[in-house]
Amino acid sequence: MTPARPIPQPDEVTQPYWDAAKRGELVMQRCGSCQRWIFQPKLACPSCHSDELVWEPVSGNGTIYSFVKVHPPVLPAFKEKTPYLVVLVELAEDPGLRVLGNLLDHDTSAARIGHPVAVVYESLDDGVVLPQWQLTD
Ligand SMILES: [Zn+2]
Repeated sequence: MTPARPIPQPDEVTQPYWDAAKRGELVMQRCGSCQRWIFQPKLACPSCHSDELVWEPVSGNGTIYSFVKVHPPVLPAFKEKTPYLVVLVELAEDPGLRVLGNLLDHDTSAARIGHPVAVVYESLDDGVVLPQWQLTD
């Protein structure tokens, strides 16, 4: 039996992100004062320290900013998935807005820095939905 995959544990700061993913929507925090996009979720804006943060939908389109191919040794729950790509995606909304995820394509050989990607949603057994990525043309 494959060990259980570790899953994100939503808290009061990150809950809106996970709730949106369950709806098939990618949202990011944005500062209501200086308008900067923020990821990872925070209690206050890292730029101007305002706590007027709101969640806004984003396009779910971006490009690969960086990536790494993961090989064993890994946690036992991920061993069957190796090798797989972890991508740092720069979202279309802002060159400084970058999120991590896995590239879910079966064939990842076309993955390059700068390649366009789009968000996809991976549902886990326990109801958690992970925003992940796939290559686009
Ligand atoms: Zn701000």
